[in-house]
Amino acid sequence: EKMGYFELNNGVKVPALGFGTYQMPPAITEENVAKAINLGYRSIDTAQNYGNEAEVGAAVNGSGVSRDDLFVTSKTQTSGYKTTLRGIDESLRSAQLDYFDLMIIHWPTIDNSGTYKALEEAYQAGKLRAIGVSNFNSSKVQKLIDRAEVKPMIDQIETDVYWQQNKMHKFLNQNNILHESWAPLGEGLSPVLSEPAIIRIAEKYQKSTAQVILRFLTQQHIMVIPKSTNPVHIAENLNVFDFKLTDDELDIIKSLDQGHSGVNWPSSMGQEA
Ligand code: NAD
Repeated sequence: EKMGYFELNNGVKVPALGFGTYQMPPAITEENVAKAINLGYRSIDTAQNYGNEAEVGAAVNGSGVSRDDLFVTSKTQTSGYKTTLRGIDESLRSAQLDYFDLMIIHWPTIDNSGTYKALEEAYQAGKLRAIGVSNFNSSKVQKLIDRAEVKPMIDQIETDVYWQQNKMHKFLNQNNILHESWAPLGEGLSPVLSEPAIIRIAEKYQKSTAQVILRFLTQQHIMVIPKSTNPVHIAENLNVFDFKLTDDELDIIKSLDQGHSGVNWPSSMGQEA
């Protein structure tokens, strides 16, 4: 099926749907990412903190797909200008890549402006094709915008049908920053995949609830990066661009918003943004 694309505020095109690798053990990451790319995924999401950048890079470099056609995201684990500059170089070396398509600040740090300044410098040096943030709320994004030389292009925040992030979505749209969802399927821990209203819509299109959710989010102009190590699910999650939800169906799913995650996070996760 044909992949959808969004455009970032610097003109870079980004696949509307990518492959997540959180909690993917390094030993099985290269094989899973290779499988995903082979199936047609063109965007991969990793992070310094996932410990699998090297394996993601190996899969990208061994894929046989032109580097220009792939969109590789990583995330900083550092705080401050110098350590972040060093961290970006270490990530590139570890992944054996000349550039990342996107690097984002994984969580707000004690020195967001220093951390972001390093991203800007690496962007200007051609090591990053786009930069942005993750788990930043509107006031933290606004603070960055106020001082930034390079406007952030993406904010990756927890978003699913129970937590649609409507206020943030509007804020990001107004600022021409792309809303990217993490845990679009509720990490497999949320009851969202067996939500009756979504089951009914899924039956109509002969799709799974996961596919309806991913289609819903991408139709809202939200980038998604579902993760799976199950070959059936990996293929299924990509196959969401051959149907379109009607306005009525979009409204039904919009009405499922609860303003918070359907996941019972173990500790303090999922609080920010
Ligand atoms: P997800 O919402 O993508 O859910 C993944 C889980 O859902 C799988 O482990 C599996 O249990 C289940 N699943 C997947 N496909 C399915 C299908 N078709 N049918 C039924 N069940 C299915 O959760 P995630 O991995 O946490 O989030 C996606 C990606 O977002 C991550 O892999 C990571 O790359 C990124 N992420 C970023 C942050 C951040 O702080 N920026 C935090 C969490 C995740």
